[in-house]
Amino acid sequence: MDAARKKNLKTQWRDQQRKAALAALPLELAELKAMFDMLDVEIPQKGCDHTRRLTEAWLRSRGHDVESVFVWLNTQGGYCDCEVLANVEERVDESTRA
Ligand SMILES: [Zn+2]
Repeated sequence: MDAARKKNLKTQWRDQQRKAALAALPLELAELKAMFDMLDVEIPQKGCDHTRRLTEAWLRSRGHDVESVFVWLNTQGGYCDCEVLANVEERVDESTRA
């Protein structure tokens, strides 16, 4: 396999991974980013009490299905508000980077 073809396959694979990750997102990307922005502001003020109360309150206020988003957060290592910010934001960033 020559280098150009190898590179092409690698790009294709990355594209597929990215699409799969995006397809698995429980919310629109813009909504997820808005959620991370909210946590970015709220956690320093209110702290994390080892639950997802800030995340949950925000999801409810936006009319999202809390249960399905929580299931997805579990798969991404976001078990409390600060983990959602620390673990999940980075993964979403990685999977959606151009
Ligand atoms: Zn926490």
